[in-house]
Amino acid sequence: MYQAPLPKELAELVPEEADGRIRAARAKLGRRLMILGHHYQRDEIIRHADLRGDSFKLASHAASHPEAEVIVFCGVHFMAESADILTADSQAVVLPNLAAGCSMADMANIIQVRNCWRQLEEALGGVRTLSSIEGSGPIVVPVTYINSAANLKAFVGERGGTVCTSSNAPVAVRWALDKGDKVLFFPDQHLGRNTGVKLGYDPERDMCLWDPFKPLGGNTVERLQEARFLLWKGHCSVHSRFTVAQIADARRRHPGVRVIVHPECELEVVRASDMNGSTETIIREVTAGEPGSVWAVGTEINLVHRLSQENPDKTVFCLDPDVCPCSTMYRIHPSFLCWSLERLVEGEVVNQIVVRDPVRHFAREALDRMLVLA
Ligand code: SF4
Repeated sequence: MYQAPLPKELAELVPEEADGRIRAARAKLGRRLMILGHHYQRDEIIRHADLRGDSFKLASHAASHPEAEVIVFCGVHFMAESADILTADSQAVVLPNLAAGCSMADMANIIQVRNCWRQLEEALGGVRTLSSIEGSGPIVVPVTYINSAANLKAFVGERGGTVCTSSNAPVAVRWALDKGDKVLFFPDQHLGRNTGVKLGYDPERDMCLWDPFKPLGGNTVERLQEARFLLWKGHCSVHSRFTVAQIADARRRHPGVRVIVHPECELEVVRASDMNGSTETIIREVTAGEPGSVWAVGTEINLVHRLSQENPDKTVFCLDPDVCPCSTMYRIHPSFLCWSLERLVEGEVVNQIVVRDPVRHFAREALDRMLVLA
């Protein structure tokens, strides 16, 4: 989505000025306003958040605060869409910078996914869904990671599938395979693969990769028939930076180090780590670690820095020696937050994210299934 440049005086605010103006606007808006901050946001944003969390936790927070007239979502576009779907029509969800997207979510769009589905119907002699089990062919249950556009969530909801998070992916995929023959998992191949392996499936035998730029996703008909997992060829540009060599280096430099990574990392990285889990799991494990313990963390740098500051009794560092912020999250600059709040004070709602029917209806079905499976 297009984001117009900020007025010059806002774009050039020094940090102290932006901070003061954000606080002043907040005070005027009072309880009408709730600011949600994703864990990957910079400190200059997080300090203004009423609540912080990962994408799932923030969507739940948004849904459980009907008193907030306006929710300013300091995260990325798909998160604000989920918040809008889960909140009442009377509540407005604002994304301070419309350019804050997610490179992974952009790796699967509705045209590509519809095209994939059509090819599967042809290759498999038909496809049945949990919403429509009449006809021929295997039952394919689409599962989309919460990091996806609302129209993909709607595609999934319409076909009886579910949204999953990095926390509930094993439960969601187990559910899908209990009810159907195959799961089409998008957009993150790594979360899909790691989840399948966690459930005891063989990544070579049971899974195939769907490349949206190749006929049949780059597979033969036989492979598509055999596989239980069809994994979309998408990835997170932040978590795919972590490597087995970095883990080996951390172990060499810090004997006894505990390595914890996000399941958006490659399978080899997850296998070489000591544990893996969602952002909330990483926070919980490091926080619960005993004093003096040493943690190498494979996730976004702003979160790792904050974990390090909030756990001064432990050594916490990022696996990647080079900085690896989520560049799209970073687009929520304090000047944009200041602008959106000051416009609200003036009575103007800018950058409102609105998901309309029928996308809203079917995406809500898929999100509700996710909440049940959480
Ligand atoms: S960290 Fe990765 S998955 Fe999360 S918003 Fe950034 S690009 Fe998207």
